Amino acid sequence: MSKQATPLLQKNLLAWYGREARDLPWRRTQDPYKIWVSEIMLQQTQVATVIDYYNRWMRRFPDVKSLADAPLADVLEHWAGLGYYRRARMLHQAAQLVARSYGGRLPHTAAALNELPGIGRYTAAAIASIAFGESSAVLDGNVIRILTRLFALPDDVGSPKTIAKLWDIAQELIKDQAPGDFNQAMMELGATVCFPKNPSCGVCPVADSCKARAKGDPTAFPFKKRKEIIESLTNFALVCRKDGRVLLRQQPEEGRWGGLWMFPFWAKREHMVREFDLKSKKLKPFMTVNHGFTKYRISLKVYEHPSGGAPGSARSKWVPITDLSKYAFPSPHQRIVREILKTHAGTAS
Ligand code: SF4
Repeated sequence: MSKQATPLLQKNLLAWYGREARDLPWRRTQDPYKIWVSEIMLQQTQVATVIDYYNRWMRRFPDVKSLADAPLADVLEHWAGLGYYRRARMLHQAAQLVARSYGGRLPHTAAALNELPGIGRYTAAAIASIAFGESSAVLDGNVIRILTRLFALPDDVGSPKTIAKLWDIAQELIKDQAPGDFNQAMMELGATVCFPKNPSCGVCPVADSCKARAKGDPTAFPFKKRKEIIESLTNFALVCRKDGRVLLRQQPEEGRWGGLWMFPFWAKREHMVREFDLKSKKLKPFMTVNHGFTKYRISLKVYEHPSGGAPGSARSKWVPITDLSKYAFPSPHQRIVREILKTHAGTAS
C-alpha cells in the first residue's frame, strides 16, 4: 500500500467506527480495571456470551480491591461457563499483585501491564491504548486477518517472522491516530465485517484500500503453510450417586482446571474399571459429551456406577445433588450436572 493510501484508510476506518461501533458495556467506561476484565473475558469467547458474565462480574467485583480480596472459589464460580479457567486464576493473581504493589491502580503503560500475570502483549496494548491513550497497536487473529488482506501479504502467518512484521505494520498504522478508537475499530472490523470465511467487502469502510479485494480473493489471506492436525480422543467419567448425593473431585490447583470440581474421569476405560473395581459389574451409559480443546476433539463417555462407588482420593467429596449449583465445573462437566439435575427432578417429582 502506498504511503498516500494510508491516511485515507485510517480516516475511513475511524469514521466508520464512530458511526457503527456496537454499544457494549465496556465501551461506556474508561476504567482500566473494567477494560482489563472485558479484554480477558473476550479472549476465546464471543461478545454475546461475555456481556452477561461481565455485568454479573462487575456487580460482584466492581474494582481491583474487591477482586483481590475475594476467595478463588468465588472468582471461579463467577467465571464458570466461560471456559479456559486459567484466565480467571491469572486475573485474580494479578488483582492481588496490583492491590499489593500498585495501591490498587493498574500501571499506565503497555510495557508495565505486560508484566502482570495473564496480560500478554495484545491485552497490555488494548488496556494502555483504550484506558490511558498510549499509542500501542494490538495484534490478534482478527487484526492479522485484516492486515494480511489489506496488504495482500503472501507470508506464512505461522512464522514468528511474519508476526513480528505484522506487529510493525500495526504499529505504523496506529501512529498519530486516536489509539484506543483505532484499536477498537480494527477489532470491530474483524468481528463484524472482515469475517474469516465470507468477508462483507461490499460494506467494508476500507474496501478501497484493500489489496486482497482488488485481487478478487480476500479469503486467500491470511496464508498459513501447515494445516493444524486435529486429534480425536475419548475420555471416561463416572457418575456415582448415593442417597441423593453425587461424588465429585476437586482438581489440583496447578492443573488446567485448577480448583474446579469434576466427576471422576480418566483417559482410559481400564483405569476407571480398575480404580472403582468395576470388572464384574455392568456399567450403565449415562451420556456422551463432545467438546473441543485446543487441537483435540474429545468425546467424554459418561457412565453411571451401578451401586454408588466410593471416594478414591482425598480430593473427593459426596455432594447433595441440590447443592451442585454452588460448585464451579468446567463446561463438559456442567453438561453432566444439567443432565443429573434433569433426571433428579424427574425422580424427585
Ligand atoms: Fe476485509 Fe473485504 Fe474489507 Fe478487505 S475489503 S478488509 S477483505 S472486508
